[in-house]
Amino acid sequence: MTPPPAEETVKKRSQDDYVFGKVIGEGSFSTVYLAKDIHTNKEFAIKVLEKRHIIKENKMEYVMREKKVLQILGNSTYFVRLYCTFQDGERLYFVLTYAKNGDFLTFLNKTSSLMLDCVRHYAAEIVLALETLNTKGIVHRDLKPENILLDENWHILITDFGSAKILIPVEGEKNESDEEGSQKRRNSFVGTAQYVSPEILTDGKVSFASDLWAFGCILYQMVVGLPPFRAGSEYLIFQKILKLEYEFPTDIDTTIQDLIKNLLILTPEKRLGANESKIYTSIRQHPFFRDTNWNNLGPAPKILPSEASALGQSQAAIPENLQPGLDEKKESMLHAEIFGSPMATPTRKKSQTKNIADLSEEEIRRRLETQKTDRWHNLVEGNLILKQGLVDKRKGLFPRRRMFLLTLGPHLYYVDPTTMILKGEIPWSPDIKTEAKNFKTFLVHTPNRTYYLEDPDGYALEWCKAIEELKVHYFPESKT
Ligand code: ATP
Repeated sequence: MTPPPAEETVKKRSQDDYVFGKVIGEGSFSTVYLAKDIHTNKEFAIKVLEKRHIIKENKMEYVMREKKVLQILGNSTYFVRLYCTFQDGERLYFVLTYAKNGDFLTFLNKTSSLMLDCVRHYAAEIVLALETLNTKGIVHRDLKPENILLDENWHILITDFGSAKILIPVEGEKNESDEEGSQKRRNSFVGTAQYVSPEILTDGKVSFASDLWAFGCILYQMVVGLPPFRAGSEYLIFQKILKLEYEFPTDIDTTIQDLIKNLLILTPEKRLGANESKIYTSIRQHPFFRDTNWNNLGPAPKILPSEASALGQSQAAIPENLQPGLDEKKESMLHAEIFGSPMATPTRKKSQTKNIADLSEEEIRRRLETQKTDRWHNLVEGNLILKQGLVDKRKGLFPRRRMFLLTLGPHLYYVDPTTMILKGEIPWSPDIKTEAKNFKTFLVHTPNRTYYLEDPDGYALEWCKAIEELKVHYFPESKT
């Protein structure tokens, strides 16, 4: 592929050099904003981390590791690039490549399983990225579709190096693998349940082969539509991984099955590529890649314009009238996703069945009167709350408990119940979809993102039903 255009390294910047636009993502310790450099007009994703929060949660090491790994990777192809970092009294800022087309998980969810040529292309991009990691001595340890972003030309950009391990010492620095040897704890789980390798679950041993296992899981997900090891809880997923309990649907191409089987091998040293350094020759030579030109993978497969607009974030905008910098007021305004959320005009529908939102004007007025004394009332812009409950919003490794408030409007707000701060809302559109995985876990798919949610009390099905009813109420034509 043609490498992305070289961009000059930006030095000695501060938040006043950027206009901050909408929130494009939230991590456990961070908020990611779309931002524009006022000098060059270039767009970046700026990851903002609250120092207080990082220190309180003891995540300084995690943040420093991510910075260090991104610096080692520099402008390597297929990785998010860290342009610069800076800080103020309260926050740390990471200025990153803006991945305009969202993440690979949304891409996979939208397209269910991919055509084989498309799988081959993305698999080859991942192989080249894994070779770069191997060459630079980095094990990602949390490789999964959510951590593979897509740039404006639909090429991959691997991100999220907070869990990574540096195996080759950078000159003059301590070798982390030595520390690992002395600090190794049995069963210390790093990664995400579905993609974690058996050796990380058993002896915690870190090697490049762990990323090869994750690659096998991602390949499976590309062709089947779901990851290979699935169950109702992390514990059950781990059991399946340790027993290598997975199977292929009958219609899966046998060549790719063979490649996946050779990656999903319990003994790390036996995985395809595990004994090779820098170049994964045996993977490159697998028959699945027979027609791949490793020196030039070519453009990413064509995606239909309709799919592209549904997947991409191109509609995310930075309003013209904003001043550079970020203060608390602006932060909470951007958090509430005032800008760019694809809110459709509500159209009421006369429904025959009793729907959660089927309320007379009088009933709404009466309920709103009662709601005024409710502690959540001031956070929902005067909208009537139809359903509320504590839900764990999962992002990567760490779930965060939020009070979810489903209201007329429609809105699905989420609030930090400790600080009582409105953290954001899941954007509504006729394309919103829910998917209950079990009694606790459910997904809310929006065009730009899939939200992983867990109701600790087991009311996942009720949440899905309520959201679907509200959708039917406001977007009756989107029902089918
Ligand atoms: P956790 O820290 O809980 O593992 P995370 O690593 O996903 O979560 P972040 O790296 O802060 O947390 O990212 C939060 C979200 O922001 C991501 O899921 C993604 O949707 C979006 N995002 C992150 N980086 C970029 C980027 N460079 N371009 C576009 N979107 C991004």
